[in-house]
Amino acid sequence: MTNKPESLYIHIPFCDHICKYCDFTKLFYFEKYEKEYLDSLITEIEHYHINRVKTLYFGGGTPTSLSDEGFERILSFATQYLEDDYEFTVEANVENLTESKLSIMKKCGVNRISIGVQSTNDKLLKEIGRNHSFEDVRRVVSLAKAQGFDNINIDLIYGFKHQSARQLKKDLKNFIELDIDHISIYSLIVEKGSIFYSQGVKEQSEGASRRFYEIILKTLRKNGYERYEISNFARNKKYSRHNMTYWKNREYYGCGLGASGFVSGNRYTNTKSLTEYNKHNFVKESEKVSNKDSLEYYLITNFRMEQGFSREEFKQKFGQDFAEMFKDKINKFLLSNLLVITPDRVKLNDDGLLLMDFVILKLI
Ligand code: SF4
Repeated sequence: MTNKPESLYIHIPFCDHICKYCDFTKLFYFEKYEKEYLDSLITEIEHYHINRVKTLYFGGGTPTSLSDEGFERILSFATQYLEDDYEFTVEANVENLTESKLSIMKKCGVNRISIGVQSTNDKLLKEIGRNHSFEDVRRVVSLAKAQGFDNINIDLIYGFKHQSARQLKKDLKNFIELDIDHISIYSLIVEKGSIFYSQGVKEQSEGASRRFYEIILKTLRKNGYERYEISNFARNKKYSRHNMTYWKNREYYGCGLGASGFVSGNRYTNTKSLTEYNKHNFVKESEKVSNKDSLEYYLITNFRMEQGFSREEFKQKFGQDFAEMFKDKINKFLLSNLLVITPDRVKLNDDGLLLMDFVILKLI
């Protein structure tokens, strides 16, 4: 069988602290939760009878908040699923990316690290509930490089209250000086369930957010970073292969508390209750993706990519060429140059990417 998912996401929900903007599935780390959670997680992963995957991704929460023993146990368990040519990513927080965690990662074949940095401004970091300083970031990036990790991502969030364009430029300068190959940049979204939401914190206006994004795009391009997805920039073609699974709307296994997955045409979401999860009631909701939803997901995800999607692949999936299917709706986008259709591909250009939601809304 070749059409089993080729990607596996594993969620570690524990964190040492709770950030004010966060609405992910997470819990304070307590050692007493760890063993039972990892037992349940292994049971869930085993029940999928996974053969081999090309990409494995540990996210959270904070995978590096586990004890060294727990961390090594779950990483080494998961390596059995890796194909030869794999990408194995682990998300880490600055304060618990220790030398011993890095050694365990090296031993288990991890070849990509994604570090939650968010800002290089120490005052802002404190305000949003992060426990590290930018000096700590410099230190752990050097440590990781010294251990031989050459595929490192850092995350940046922009659009905090009172953040100026000057501060953003300083963040970008500091990030670029870290000399790493991948940067993910997201604007602050105040989601229900976050501390910011309960405090009534407001997001940046759309206009300000667009101006900030333009600064980011211009600065990173000038410094050799290619935007390959609307929020992701890489040098040396170090794209995130795992995240491209999502952006190409391909299927993947998702395991762990609150994780979601896409297997055999079903999209599912796991329970967020640790008690239920530990009773092995893993999946909370599951639904077969209808043809209409499938088309919608396809456009929403693939249009995020700088390269858009292949017309041939679209035709194979939906039985009709994109230009033919949407012939009554695409003219204005082609004329205004938001949408580009070549003999092989369909993509949004720079302005089209900024208006992606609008374009998709008009198409479907
Ligand atoms: S942002 Fe990351 S580290 Fe902070 S609370 Fe959320 S999952 Fe934990």
